[in-house]
Amino acid sequence: MEKDCVFCKIINGEIPAKRLYEDEKMIIIRDINPKAETHLLLIPKEHYADVASLNERTAADLGQCLLKLRELQDVLGIGGGFRLIVNKGVRAGQTVFHLHIHILAGRRIPGF
Ligand code: 5GP
Ligand code: ZN
Repeated sequence: MEKDCVFCKIINGEIPAKRLYEDEKMIIIRDINPKAETHLLLIPKEHYADVASLNERTAADLGQCLLKLRELQDVLGIGGGFRLIVNKGVRAGQTVFHLHIHILAGRRIPGF
């Protein structure tokens, strides 16, 4: 847990957020400022800044999270198609430096 990290605070309950899914490795919540009809965030529980900070262990954990996402598609209402986005660094638009995967879905997903 990182002291000033908003996602660590969500994970430990300091900041409220309804969990659409939770297990020992991750939570899935709704983005507070949705950029698509459905905009979810897959957030690993372990704090590390970004995709460039992955190591073999956390990459394996993240792979498990993606396998779980595959199972959850229909429960989450995204089975019709979705887009995953991971921002790395300020230039890419990253604002929260705790790795997270944006899940965009819905009738119209905005283009790049
Ligand atoms: P980034 O820009 O770092 O890739 O994405 C951070 C995302 O986290 C943004 O889309 C932003 O709307 C979302 N976000 C920031 N603070 C909160 C919060 O307190 N709760 C929720 N649910 N989402 C948040
Ligand atoms: Zn964190």
